[in-house]
Amino acid sequence: MRVGFGYDSHRFEEGRKLFLGGIEIPYEKGLKGHSDADVLIHAIIDALLGAAALGDIGSHFPDTDEKWRGADSTKLLEAVVAEVRDAGWRIGNVDATIICERPKLLPHIPAIRSRLAEILFPDEVDGVSRVSVKGKTNEKMDDVGAGEGIEVHAITLLDNL
Ligand code: MG
Repeated sequence: MRVGFGYDSHRFEEGRKLFLGGIEIPYEKGLKGHSDADVLIHAIIDALLGAAALGDIGSHFPDTDEKWRGADSTKLLEAVVAEVRDAGWRIGNVDATIICERPKLLPHIPAIRSRLAEILFPDEVDGVSRVSVKGKTNEKMDDVGAGEGIEVHAITLLDNL
């Protein structure tokens, strides 16, 4: 078995849509980034790549490459899930914590988990039971606590196929 950890953060920017786990979240701002800036998916990608020792999101999808401008992060996650599987690994579970003051995430967690389960566990009837997404604030501390962005920490377990 292998464990992998991933972290990502993005700053809010006016005039962009907010995506978390492949779901568009209604909010006054989105996240700044080269791709769609789906910070949750980016952290999960790094957890998966880390567990399989396959590098990181920056080496796979460089933000200097025009090919990834505005990229749909769900497509990046699909590619990484396939790469991890091709390397001989089966994903056991994914657990993530999203940290932000606003927006309130609780109403969106079920949709986020379902969407992630479709990508991470396409062949499993109850894949959603293997995907945990938790939301919390930073208790007003630091820039995230001032509502300037979102941070995500994610962990995954891989098992031999
Ligand atoms: Mg990112």
